[in-house]
Amino acid sequence: MTRFDDLPADFDGCARSCRKTRSHTLLWGDCAHAPESARPEPLVTIGGVQSAADGHPSIVLRSVPVSELAERIEKALRSVQITLGPKSLALLEDGHQMHLTGGEYSAMALAVAMDLAEGGAS
Ligand SMILES: [Zn+2]
Repeated sequence: MTRFDDLPADFDGCARSCRKTRSHTLLWGDCAHAPESARPEPLVTIGGVQSAADGHPSIVLRSVPVSELAERIEKALRSVQITLGPKSLALLEDGHQMHLTGGEYSAMALAVAMDLAEGGAS
């Protein structure tokens, strides 16, 4: 924290909490002097339906950090097997780039979608 005594005499604080503590709190979203490193990781909110205690379906929302979601997506993508044809190895050795088939991209997208549908709110 920057002490108020170190600040110009006309310092009025940049947020209520800074004025109250007479120093910059450096809290992200509050103090204008908060460092970029204090920025919280973005969250993605995923919804789902679960049975509530009364037995009725209930909408459940869960906020997941982007890094956690990326780990789930990567795990789902790695569950998809890719089959290379007999000429693929020679093409790769020659430095050619290859695209997956449309069916393989669909399988990868479906694996991610199923993971989100099944574990979205858990
Ligand atoms: Zn401040």
